[in-house]
Amino acid sequence: MFSALRLSATRTFATNAAVDGFNGAIGNTPLIYLKHLSERTGAQIFGKAEFQNPGGSVKDRAALGLIRDAENKGLIKPGGTVVEGTAGNTGIGLAHVCRAKGYKCVIYMPDTQSQEKIDLLRMLGADVRPVPAVAFENPKNYNHQAQEYAEGLSNAIWTDQFDNVANADAHYTSTGPEIWEQTQGQLDGFVCATGTGGTLAGVGKYLKEKSGGKTQIWLADPPGSVLTSYITSGGKLVERSGSSITEGIGQGRITDNLGTFVNELSGAFTVPDEKSIEMVYELLDTEGLYLGASSALNVVAAVELAQRLGKGSRIATILCDGAYRYQSRLFSKKWLVSKGLENAIPEHLKKYSVL
Ligand code: PMP
Repeated sequence: MFSALRLSATRTFATNAAVDGFNGAIGNTPLIYLKHLSERTGAQIFGKAEFQNPGGSVKDRAALGLIRDAENKGLIKPGGTVVEGTAGNTGIGLAHVCRAKGYKCVIYMPDTQSQEKIDLLRMLGADVRPVPAVAFENPKNYNHQAQEYAEGLSNAIWTDQFDNVANADAHYTSTGPEIWEQTQGQLDGFVCATGTGGTLAGVGKYLKEKSGGKTQIWLADPPGSVLTSYITSGGKLVERSGSSITEGIGQGRITDNLGTFVNELSGAFTVPDEKSIEMVYELLDTEGLYLGASSALNVVAAVELAQRLGKGSRIATILCDGAYRYQSRLFSKKWLVSKGLENAIPEHLKKYSVL
């Protein structure tokens, strides 16, 4: 069994120097020891506080990485336009980075996303274009529309977050090394959900390489995603069916970002929505953390992985964003009833459904 990790009571910085604007404030997020869940499992469970990025989510890192990559390749010049198809957080990250760098930002998104996210994008100056939520195979899918629009403009890029591996590279060069350092290179497992696959592939690849294969990397998946069955069946891609209350995660295909690492995964879990929503409330009640459903799903999977790897194991996951963007849903009694999830919240936690 490993000895306990050294924990510090406050966040420590390598330097007290100021950072360079919005972009300089991305990354270097704390790794939070989740005390109650660790005590319950006898493991040490850590959440990487990506909700503390300046744009509020894990996707700030990808946004900056995608734009920097295009700049380095000479694909975009000052005054240019950045176009992306995104369910929300990448768009928010891109909108911030575009303002900070002086680019225009155009976002195509499925019209099923929360109003909070659409409003925020517009307030950040993005030109938001909601389009019908159709499958990737359909040419009217939001990604294809984004690509087509960018291709018709001059001095414009389609950042292509799903298949542009500059996304996973951003996590390979920042999130992965930070987690490795913050756990002093002693980590038995890392698990997180996937939208583009950038976080899982980038962090997973770095941790696996640095640990010489000792850190197991697992996927956490919502219902309606095909990835768990792809991984557990040894590579069979089934038709997508079902849905989830989580936003920004789950996939119907192997994106190029995930494809760089999918064969290195140790396994996958599907987490039912009942467990994810219960964990949203539990994290608030026991740890004081107000997090979105994908973070909660990740923590459920981290607990499950801790149980598999046994007492004393050290597990890390990603706390992707805060609940602020989803509160009109996650904390509304009416919405919970509409999703058949009212019974997923234990009696003593129902007091938090105040909307
Ligand atoms: N959680 C949330 C809330 C997200 O918006 C996303 C990105 N779509 C993810 C998790 C997954 O991150 P990635 O795209 O790196 O797989």
